[in-house]
Amino acid sequence: MSSIRLENLSKVYSGPGGDIVAVNDVNIDIEDGEFIVLVGPSGSGKSTILRMIAGLETVTDGRILIDDEDITDRKPKNRDIAMVFQNYSLYPHLTARKNMSFGLKMRGELSSEEIDERVENAASIMSITDLLDKMPDELSGGQKQRIALGRAIVRDPQAFLMDEPLSNLDAKLRTQMRTEIQLLQNDLDVTTIYVTHDQTEAMTMGDRIAILDGGELQQMATPLEAYYKPNNRFVAGFIGSPSMNFIDVNVDQSGELSLEHEAFSYETSPRIRDAVDSAIDRMILGIRPEDIEVADESTENTIEVTVDVIEPLGKEQMIYFSLDGETYTGSVSGHRNIPEGGTVHLRFPTERVHLFDHDTSESILNCVLPEEDEAQQFNAAAGEGATS
Ligand code: ADP
Ligand code: MG
Repeated sequence: MSSIRLENLSKVYSGPGGDIVAVNDVNIDIEDGEFIVLVGPSGSGKSTILRMIAGLETVTDGRILIDDEDITDRKPKNRDIAMVFQNYSLYPHLTARKNMSFGLKMRGELSSEEIDERVENAASIMSITDLLDKMPDELSGGQKQRIALGRAIVRDPQAFLMDEPLSNLDAKLRTQMRTEIQLLQNDLDVTTIYVTHDQTEAMTMGDRIAILDGGELQQMATPLEAYYKPNNRFVAGFIGSPSMNFIDVNVDQSGELSLEHEAFSYETSPRIRDAVDSAIDRMILGIRPEDIEVADESTENTIEVTVDVIEPLGKEQMIYFSLDGETYTGSVSGHRNIPEGGTVHLRFPTERVHLFDHDTSESILNCVLPEEDEAQQFNAAAGEGATS
């Protein structure tokens, strides 16, 4: 068990076409026993960070510390870290048991009885005892990944590093293994850094998630913080599925501040007016599909749209609508009868709206948190009670 600190970590690859900055000045502090997920699109530098921590890749700039000890230049075998890869990387000519014990035998620190005991223990934790004498090619993808995880457990390392370990499994098995890895990590309480490009995996597994784009850390936060309080448009769009809608608007500050679009004029609330600088004339309005409401024509401040496509999903339905040539998504109750090709009135509740700077993409205002909402409703209800 250990804390891990990445200090101004950078990696530059020099190629014939010039330098590639794979990781750019990343700072991450990971507490002892934490489960951290590095998430970002392909090429965002996730694997490079993991490989630098494991010592499989040199560091261009910055430091890596484990329990405050600088291990930046230490050889991989002298770092007490176990890595699990997407492709399992088992030795094909060794049984599962030998795959699990091989690393420990090579180290020569434990007796063969102690090694056997560790393998049996790890096998029992991963429910693979009956697979121990099989060869890798006799095992399914899920079973191979269990062996690979078992091999990591056997080492009893200071930290687990996992690079997209579930990517080669089918959707159902992936969901199941996701839960298992979480339970395992809870049990063993070993500091874990888990890499994925899948935001759902990140949201469901991480104590905290580090969102990366273009080698740069965009935000380090709990999953719900990243969802409700994204630092910028990238995080807002990457976290949450389907993705947040982003609508370019002009800001009319001549009267009470309104957000102007070819297709609508959006009246703001005091919360929004307080957050917007008087010099701003353009912004990006963000609204999550699940926050969009279908309203009656008589409701104030609605936006009339034509519904191009409807996707019924049972409990909810996805509606795709266009505003000035751009397509946006709403997720509304499946019970509502909405005509495909017809028009509906949509409401963007002001407490659900996000605003981003048009030029920098930084968040200007995030939505109200659900508990803040509840507190407001509670106070309102309590107020009513007092007057009646
Ligand atoms: P991720 O794991 O997030 O998909 P990587 O860390 O693998 O991203 O890669 C980050 C960037 O570094 C990418 O642009 C990739 O092409 C580049 N890169 C990775 N490894 C090398 C390498 N050995 N040589 C040159 N460029 C590399
Ligand atoms: Mg990768």
